[in-house]
Amino acid sequence: MVIRKPSYYDTFRCIAGACPDSCCHQWEVQVDADAARRYRALSGPLGDALRDALRTEDGQAFMTLREGKCPMWRADGLCRIQAELGETALCRVCREFPRLRHDYGDFQELMLEMSCPEAAKWIFLDAGGWVEAEIPGGSEVEYDREDMALLLSSRERAMELLDGEALPGETLAKLLLLGVQVQNVLDGGDPEEIQMEEARAAAGPGDIREVAGFFRGLEILTPRWRALLDTAACRPLPREVIPMARYLVRRYWLQAVSDLDLYGRVKFIALSALLVGSLAGDFQSNAQLWSKEIENDPENLDAILDGAYHSNALTDSKLLGLLLGKQAL
Ligand code: SF4
Repeated sequence: MVIRKPSYYDTFRCIAGACPDSCCHQWEVQVDADAARRYRALSGPLGDALRDALRTEDGQAFMTLREGKCPMWRADGLCRIQAELGETALCRVCREFPRLRHDYGDFQELMLEMSCPEAAKWIFLDAGGWVEAEIPGGSEVEYDREDMALLLSSRERAMELLDGEALPGETLAKLLLLGVQVQNVLDGGDPEEIQMEEARAAAGPGDIREVAGFFRGLEILTPRWRALLDTAACRPLPREVIPMARYLVRRYWLQAVSDLDLYGRVKFIALSALLVGSLAGDFQSNAQLWSKEIENDPENLDAILDGAYHSNALTDSKLLGLLLGKQAL
């Protein structure tokens, strides 16, 4: 079986106490059943603290937040469980975060998630491509091989496109067009190429504040994100939208094999890069917060995929308009 990962994947190290955000803030960590059992059986003060912190909802154990933080998070920024029992005692989520694994049966892709500031640093350095290795194992393939072949080859085209010299907005518009073309083939149509002239003609005035309003209607974790959304304004898109889009293409493009909705995902990618590029302040830390707010909340992800087709704020015409510089007055 082939395993594929970004060249920087193995270089990542959690910086724990030196982390400017920490995954122990704001998130109620899901604790896997094995770890929950071990924690509840533990004796001594740590066992008492864990029993006090764990709660179960619909059969799933969670670590309850105290003052917005995991109660195991110590004042020195280190995890009490790890400090007292070692890394192997951590629950699966804490052991693996921010590492992601997409298992397609006959191949796997590993990534780092942008919501971790240290991982975001590597993602934005964006040096090198994938590295591949053969490992033993693999399982039954559940996807359609033709669809996967199309998604793999079109993802390559998407990555080449993102390597191009065009302005960031135009690059994202081209990515959208590629999404439409590939979606058409996935739906059984012909692989017709759509020209930029057609996209320019279809572009209507868009308003980035309307897009920010859509995101304000989603679940919001931190007051900082809410305040940041209020700063959305028409600005020249910075070059950093490109590494963000590369990360999103790597992460989401192949997932369309599960439901054959590539276009919704491509729109999600373009919209997200556009939104973060329109916010005030440092792009990289805004993107990291975007990831924490959006990528880790399946309800938010579903709402955006749905909104890509049904929201009046996110129509194709408005999105193309925003990418190609037709801002509503
Ligand atoms: S967010 Fe990343 S660097 Fe920060 S504590 Fe979590 S894993 Fe470590």
